[in-house]
Amino acid sequence: MAKKQKTNEKTNEECGTEQECITSCPLCKAQFTVTQLLEACTVAWTNQEWIYFICPECKGHSHVALRRGGEFAIGYIDGGPGPCFIESEKYCVPNMKFSIRNDAITVRIDEKIFRFTAKL
Ligand SMILES: [Zn+2]
Repeated sequence: MAKKQKTNEKTNEECGTEQECITSCPLCKAQFTVTQLLEACTVAWTNQEWIYFICPECKGHSHVALRRGGEFAIGYIDGGPGPCFIESEKYCVPNMKFSIRNDAITVRIDEKIFRFTAKL
């Protein structure tokens, strides 16, 4: 009888795959995959690398700040004397890339492309 070899499957517990990277709404703590998060985002602040997230659960408004190297953060904007991003949670999706033009931010995760037009 052949012994079934236990394969050493990688569990991807580290940050790194879209499936495993679960984000949460800073307001109601509902959880979303990165794809669900991006699907719920609407407009972009192209001068700040921010996109606007409307939570599908609580309809609350948050912002997502994109960073180089697949990092991004969810939080909110404090009007202050100048706009300031207050980070609530930070995530990392190494296969996430984004490009910014004056009229839109395009986010790409592998073959999925999300485009957010600039807020006027
Ligand atoms: Zn929410």
